[in-house]
Amino acid sequence: MRNINTLVGKLCALNTRRTLSKTLYRNVSVVASLPESHEMLRTSVRAFAENELKPIAAKIDREHLYPKKQVKTMGELGLMAIMISEEYGGTGMDYLAYLIAMEEVSRGCASTGVILSVNNSLYIAPINKFGNEEQKQKYIGNFANGDRVGCFALSEPGNGSDAGAASTTARKTSSGYVLNGTKAWITNAFEAEAVVVFATTDKSLKHKGISAFVLPMSTKGVSLGKKEDKLGIRGSSTCSIIFEDCEVPEEALLGQPGYGFKIAMKTLDGGRIGIAGQALGIGQAALECAIGYAKDRKAFGNSILKLQTIQNKIADMSVRLESARLLSHRAAALADAGKPFSKEAAMAKLAASEAATYVSHQAIQILGGMGYVSDMPAERHYRDARITEIYEGTSEIQRLVIANSVIKEHTS
Ligand SMILES: Cc1cc2nc3c(=O)[nH]c(=O)nc-3n(C[C@H](O)[C@H](O)[C@H](O)COP(=O)(O)OP(=O)(O)OC[C@H]3O[C@@H](n4cnc5c(N)ncnc54)[C@H](O)[C@@H]3O)c2cc1C
Repeated sequence: MRNINTLVGKLCALNTRRTLSKTLYRNVSVVASLPESHEMLRTSVRAFAENELKPIAAKIDREHLYPKKQVKTMGELGLMAIMISEEYGGTGMDYLAYLIAMEEVSRGCASTGVILSVNNSLYIAPINKFGNEEQKQKYIGNFANGDRVGCFALSEPGNGSDAGAASTTARKTSSGYVLNGTKAWITNAFEAEAVVVFATTDKSLKHKGISAFVLPMSTKGVSLGKKEDKLGIRGSSTCSIIFEDCEVPEEALLGQPGYGFKIAMKTLDGGRIGIAGQALGIGQAALECAIGYAKDRKAFGNSILKLQTIQNKIADMSVRLESARLLSHRAAALADAGKPFSKEAAMAKLAASEAATYVSHQAIQILGGMGYVSDMPAERHYRDARITEIYEGTSEIQRLVIANSVIKEHTS
């Protein structure tokens, strides 16, 4: 059975073929109550990232290189469809495992992290939750082994945060729908072979007029627009997708007509746990980089790590990261228990993304001039961290979600 033990076994087999640093397993145990199986997963994915991703992360960033071979390896290891049952080619694990895998992969390479995240929680998850049997067979199984990736197209040039204002249309015909419009900022779009897309059948109904569809990217009428030149996560592609008189059959409808906005919001709740993991991984990498540098760097005859001002920074960086990690684990635990977790996922994403931005900013300060050049990874962590405050809901939108929920709890 393809479960956590099999996955850990595969990761261990891969890792024994590499030379493992003795320091690799330091700082691995971060949450006292983590189940042993998940500790093993963390150790194993960390070793994979250390050996397969970290050494090439700078090249991936510099050359805007899509990590095709590494995506394939992640698929073989079962990381591309972590929470999906074996029946559809997945690994049958939980949100906590997904969070841990996202953190460890992103600690090695944030670009690879977002590719993993979009395939797992934005593309496969809504098909798994809302799709029919035929859609699951067609659009999950083939996207679980790393050969193919999918994408999720909600944002448009005219609206991102206000996703309910979608202007991409889905006109009903006797045999299906005709899609017209442009989706913007779509991660994985350049490599994706299928897309979950949101379009309105009736704009006057606002968000209640939006439906979700799943279709191959090779469908006539689908084309790629501009590929963005980004500040960070430069190994992942971000493109607009144009739908022009794109005819899809009735079977392309995902879930009920008019249920698209709900599908998108529920999908983003889960996705935010993954982005929290990505942010934690970037922040952790920046913290480790800063400590490693400070230990060896001498100023006024001593290691700068002995300076109280540097130690204060390290304390503040660690507190922000660890508290965000605890919030993230809580959100994952609630999701795994089948309880509502929308507010907690927003809290986790907000805390982790702001921690990553803060920690990577402070890491550059600790490195001084060396923090500002690409010889060291600190500047890449700083650039990579920034996106986690923007996609899958900006920090301002997370605050709205949290405040609405907290106010409701206290006034109803
Ligand atoms: C690299 C990258 C990858 C992405 N990947 C995807 C993807 O795969 N699929 C996808 O569908 N989208 C994707 N996005 C889009 C992303 O989700 C949006 O950029 C994001 O939701 C913000 O939307 P916007 O850019 O239109 O900003 P806007 O919505 O125009 O917001 C601009 C500013 O106004 C603030 N603001 C807006 N409304 C409010 C409000 N009500 N209250 C307070 N402040 C508000 C925002 O917080 C922000 O600061 C990606 C974006 C990037 C940059």
